[in-house]
Amino acid sequence: MFQSILSNLAIILLGHLLMSTLMNYRKCLSKSLVFICIVLLFSGVIITMFYLPIQFGEYRFDLRLIPLIFLALFRGWKATLPILIIVSIWRLFMGGNGAVPGIIFGMIIPTLFALAFYNSNKVQNVNVKKFLIVTGCWFISDFPIIFILPNGMEVFKNIFLIRYMSFIGVAFIYYTFILLAYKSEALKNQLEFLSSHDPLTKLLNRSRFIEIVEEKMNEANINHYIAMMDIDHFKQLNDTYGHLAGDSILIKIASIFKKYECENVKVARYGGEEFIFYQKSISTDQVIKTLEKIQDEIRAAAFQINDELSLTVTVSIGLAKLEDGSRLQDVIHEADTNLYLAKKKGRDQLIGPGKLLPL
Ligand code: GH3
Ligand code: MG
Ligand code: MG
Repeated sequence: MFQSILSNLAIILLGHLLMSTLMNYRKCLSKSLVFICIVLLFSGVIITMFYLPIQFGEYRFDLRLIPLIFLALFRGWKATLPILIIVSIWRLFMGGNGAVPGIIFGMIIPTLFALAFYNSNKVQNVNVKKFLIVTGCWFISDFPIIFILPNGMEVFKNIFLIRYMSFIGVAFIYYTFILLAYKSEALKNQLEFLSSHDPLTKLLNRSRFIEIVEEKMNEANINHYIAMMDIDHFKQLNDTYGHLAGDSILIKIASIFKKYECENVKVARYGGEEFIFYQKSISTDQVIKTLEKIQDEIRAAAFQINDELSLTVTVSIGLAKLEDGSRLQDVIHEADTNLYLAKKKGRDQLIGPGKLLPL
């Protein structure tokens, strides 16, 4: 009996391992393919358990309900219902006396209970809620034995302890593995974010920006632009109001840039109070329009220093267009030269390719 309990646990953990691998590669796959893989994987795990029942005297049971419960808790009804339908139909075709009660009390009702109870606000503590759900599901699946079997009360009394202990034990082990997987996923995401973003402004950092833009610049039949943007007289602001005030200005300006980020527009903190901007566009005019809008928005924003004082800030911009055969570093250099010109001409303006654009 213990061997078959362990075999059920092994199948659940193997399913978990495959699920973790799938989640690691999910960014390379389409959403619908990931969904199909989840449905096939969990259906496979549950159906395998039908063929490895735990024998207790005359009575056979398995732990099929456990993956269903955690599916309901972690993936919601969208993933749970198709799997519930597939495994129910499979079990029905396997036949046998216990098929229909096994489907109704052993899978459908407890899974629906888990879905409904998890979404209700009756219990606030999430861990208590999960424990009650697992216990409730065990009860729904085993209690009907009393009425279904001729000597039901006897059987229930004989098996309930081992059944409940194995149910709770396996659920606890599975849950621990799921939590560990979620924690390591969260850490991985955090690490990825920290290695590709600036910690103060949360904008992309320079190296990630260059990676992204170099990839985009391979696209032909469209123009690629780089702009260097620099806050005017920022040192003076820092010296007058302090570095914390300077930091809050950087954060607010970054939040303005973020609003313009999309597939065709990327912005990064280049260093200090300098930012780098990329846009893929059919026309120079369109890029100038975007940059002028950003400049206007920054010029109009109130940078709150304290309760009594708010400041206005301006930025100077140098724009350059990628020409055939030139490298990203060349465009950055040209944009930098234009930025220098914008500063020299009095700041708070944009200087672009081929023409001067005083504001
Ligand atoms: P310009 O208009 O010519 O660009 O003048 P500027 O004062 O903005 O330029 P400068 O290069 O002289 O000074 C840049 C200042 O940016 C100096 C530095 O103290 C400040 N700075 C750089 N990084 C940070 C940061 O992370 N936080 C804060 N608060 N200040 C920073
Ligand atoms: Mg500056
Ligand atoms: Mg500067």
